[in-house]
Amino acid sequence: MNTDPTGHLSTGEIAGLYRRYVLTTYSPTGVALARGRGAWVWDVEGRRYLDCLSGIAVTGVGHAHPTLVRAIRRQAGRLMHTSNLFFHEPQARLAEALATRSMGGGCFFCNSGAEANEALIKLARLWGSQNGGRWRIVTMRNSFHGRTLATLTATGQAKVQRGFEPLPDGFDYADFNDLESVKAAITDRTAAVLVEAIQGEGGIVPATEQFLTGLRRLCTERGILLMMDEVQCGLGRTGRWWAWQAYGVEPDAFSLAKGLGGGFPIGAIVVAPGLTQVFQPGNHASTFGGTPLACTAALAVIRIIEDEGLLENARQRGEQFMDGLRGLQKRHAALVEVRGRGLMIGLVLDRPAQPFEARLRELGLLALATGERVLRFLPPLTIREREVERALRIIARACRDL
Ligand SMILES: *Cc1c(COP(=O)(O)O)cnc(C)c1O
Repeated sequence: MNTDPTGHLSTGEIAGLYRRYVLTTYSPTGVALARGRGAWVWDVEGRRYLDCLSGIAVTGVGHAHPTLVRAIRRQAGRLMHTSNLFFHEPQARLAEALATRSMGGGCFFCNSGAEANEALIKLARLWGSQNGGRWRIVTMRNSFHGRTLATLTATGQAKVQRGFEPLPDGFDYADFNDLESVKAAITDRTAAVLVEAIQGEGGIVPATEQFLTGLRRLCTERGILLMMDEVQCGLGRTGRWWAWQAYGVEPDAFSLAKGLGGGFPIGAIVVAPGLTQVFQPGNHASTFGGTPLACTAALAVIRIIEDEGLLENARQRGEQFMDGLRGLQKRHAALVEVRGRGLMIGLVLDRPAQPFEARLRELGLLALATGERVLRFLPPLTIREREVERALRIIARACRDL
C-alpha cells in the first residue's frame, strides 16, 4: 500500500480506489482534480477547467490565494490547536470581525454548516425552554440545512429524510415565500423560524422582499426568534457580507460555514446582543471549534474580501454573468429563467440539468445541476471580467447543442 499522496495516479486508478474503498454517498463526475489557481482548476491529466462552482460556494477567494496560503502556513507552524480551554488571539479577532460586520452580539465556532445549524437549533431550544416552554422550529419546504439527524429534519425535503426515521420531533414546515403558510405553522410552542435568504440546494430561489420583511415583523410580534442559514449565501457570495442585508432586515441569529475559511473547514453562528447569555458553560461545545488555524484562515478570507473589494466585484461580475445568461435566454427557448443575486446564480432549464452540466464540463466549465432542472453557478468572488466572458462563451456553445 502506497500512502504517499504526491504519487501521480491516473484518473482511472484513482476512480478504482474510490470504487473499492470510499463509500458511495456521492455521485462524482469522474474527474480527478489535482491543483487550482484563482478561478481555474486542473485535473490529474492536466486538463484545465474554469471553476464556476468553487467547491459548492467554498473557495470564494479562489484557489491557492497567496494571502490565504501564507496565513495558513505561518499559523500551522506556530499553533494549530489549543482546545477551547484556552483563549487565543485568532478566535478573539474572528469573533470581533463577524460580530462587528453584522448585528454585534457574539459567536460560537464549529466546523461545518450542519454543525452551525445544530448550534442554532440548540440555541432556539434552550432559549425557548427559558421563555415559556417553547421548543418547536418552523422551517421551509425545499430548504437545506445539513445532513445530521436534526438538520436533515429541519431540511424540508422528503428525499433527504427517507429511511432515517424516526426523525427528531419539534420541526414544522411552511412554504417558502408564503407568509400565510408560516403564520399557520407557528403555535404557542414555536421558539423560532429558520430560513435561507436565498435557497441554495433548493435551486437558487431568493426570498421575496415581502416574505423576509414580513417574516421579521411576524417573529417580532410573536416574540420568537428569526434565525437565518447563511451557510451558502453568506460571506460576500451575494455581493454583501450577509444575504439578509439586501432586505433591510436583521436576524436574531445566523449560521455560517462554506465560504468562511476559503476551503479550510470552519463554521460559526453569530447571535444578536440579546441572546449572548443563552448558552452557558456546559451547554454546547466542539473540540475542533474555532482552532487558531481555522480562525486564522477565516480572518485571511475576510481581509482578502475587503482589501480586494470583492463584495463590489461579486455585484458587478454577478450582473455581468446574469445579463449574459439573460441574453442567451432570448435565443434559446430551453432556458426558462435566470435568478439569483451577486455570484449566486441559477439558470432554470425546461429539462433535466444534469446532461447540460456534463456538457459544460466537457467544454471546460464547472457548474452544478441542482433541484432537477436548475444549473447553479457559484464562481469565486475573485472572478475577473474576461473569465466571466469566457464562461458565457462556453455556456453559449453548450446551448447550441441543447
Ligand atoms: C451546504 C449547506 C449546509 C450544510 O453544510 P455542511 O458544511 O455540508 O454541513 C447547510 N445549509 C446550507 C444553506 C447549505 O448550503
